[in-house]
Amino acid sequence: MEKTKQKETRIEGLALSKGRAVGKVCLFNENRHSNLSMYKVEGEGIEREIARVDRAIEIAGERLVVIHDRVEERIGKAEAEIFTAQKMILEDSQLRKEVVTHITEENVNADYAITHVLDSYEARLQAIDDEYISARATDFGEIKRRLLDVMGNMQPSLQCDKKHCQHGKNRIIVADELTPTLTVDIDPDLTIGFVTEHGGVNSHAAILARALGIPAVSGLQGVRGLIGCGTNLLIDGSSGVVIIHPTDESIADFMDAETEAPRVEPVAVDPVKGFEVMANVSLPADLDECIRMNAEGVGLYRTEFEVMAAGRFFSEDELFDRYDKIAKAMAGKGVVFRLFDIGSDKAMPFMQIPSEENPALGWRGARLLLGRRDVLETQARALARISEVKGGRIKIMYPMIIDADQFVEIKSVFLNAIKDFNYGEILHGIMFEVPSACLMARELYELIDFASIGTNDLTQYLFAVDRDNELVSYDYNPDRAVFWKLMNQMADAAQEAGKPLSVCGELAGDPQHIRKLIDMGITSVSVSPRRITDIRKAAAELM
Ligand code: PEP
Ligand code: MG
Repeated sequence: MEKTKQKETRIEGLALSKGRAVGKVCLFNENRHSNLSMYKVEGEGIEREIARVDRAIEIAGERLVVIHDRVEERIGKAEAEIFTAQKMILEDSQLRKEVVTHITEENVNADYAITHVLDSYEARLQAIDDEYISARATDFGEIKRRLLDVMGNMQPSLQCDKKHCQHGKNRIIVADELTPTLTVDIDPDLTIGFVTEHGGVNSHAAILARALGIPAVSGLQGVRGLIGCGTNLLIDGSSGVVIIHPTDESIADFMDAETEAPRVEPVAVDPVKGFEVMANVSLPADLDECIRMNAEGVGLYRTEFEVMAAGRFFSEDELFDRYDKIAKAMAGKGVVFRLFDIGSDKAMPFMQIPSEENPALGWRGARLLLGRRDVLETQARALARISEVKGGRIKIMYPMIIDADQFVEIKSVFLNAIKDFNYGEILHGIMFEVPSACLMARELYELIDFASIGTNDLTQYLFAVDRDNELVSYDYNPDRAVFWKLMNQMADAAQEAGKPLSVCGELAGDPQHIRKLIDMGITSVSVSPRRITDIRKAAAELM
């Protein structure tokens, strides 16, 4: 309960996931967008931030030793000394003291305090009229970047989890961005809403929020500066309205509004003859929902999400147990295991991948798996074991394939990893989500057994529009002539090759597109389990 009556403030953002909720704020301390992003901390949150500073100093120090040794070996002793000097500055007790003082006195997060303290050091040194000393100023800028880089890759956490967050229900998570890590990390039974400063409609986290049926609004820049842990909040995921300190009248208005029917759980309907509707599975809850909705299989199992949730990679045995369980749960209906699609917004903080300027075009999907063969090989072995069962058959799908050469290479790494196994039938498919691969669908069909079109990424890369950026979401729209032209080409290529093609992006879960898909010869889609019934109904009318 808030002691004093606070003034109601209404703000409007981008509606990501439908539904309304009233609850208390839980702040989540992850900053992905700006080093200067600030949020308030208090109580145990302060200790948590100080611990983050200490851990970041430790990790950055360890990295500097590695860099020092590498530079000494490759360039020379004198050049390597720069990094010894940086380490001394980093570990200076005065520096730590100033950062800690800034956190405790200003009630701000560690990233913000580090930026403030190191920027002021840098500015003071730059102002000194001495070439040698002002040149040293850049060391402070570099140390700042090193610390922020480490902090950005740390496993983030809830700010106030010792307060209501851990015990209370009805919490509304407020974060910089609704990252997939955050979504999988959070107990959906306790969480009734997401409010974020950044994030696009088809970001992975927005997809997850919709799959969980949790209302979400994004694009509210600076919102974390207006609230603290425990603030009362109302969220309307249909209109994008968020009310801070809502009055009883506003709550009554919104929650009784007739503009939206009360949320009902979808009811399963029978499959439609000639049009297969499978399920996309990212979280364990999706699998239950997929069975409840009588899906005709799992058309996209996003295997990376459980790794993200665990914050570590699994051993081959652990993966085998998981995959075996899901294959058995689907009782022979078939599961398409997409190999780990890591990178971009699905960063794995525990991997400590160096931060990239443009991660959506960087180390991700098939490219990352080829760079981390150990990760690919372990997953390949676990999957091969699933197919060992007598007459076993599994489908694996490679993410973000860019061309035939890359497919041939990654498939050979997969097969090489399992060459000593007595495996069953393995079908190798790809995601069509990068335009270069879509344009060479005919050539790829000569190599692959099946494919699925990932319209979420295809839209992003075809129109050069970031799926995670709420500022350009008005332009994130696949429904344009050139998109359907490309879709048609892929469908024709599949028919000529006589090989299966499905569609598994969010577009397939929208009934308004089903006619176009059927007209081009697509007879199989994979959608979020909650969308299965609507899609079947739409298809039934057209078949
Ligand atoms: C897609 O890109 O459309 C897709 C289904 O994959 P993901 O959403 O996991 O990137
Ligand atoms: Mg994709």
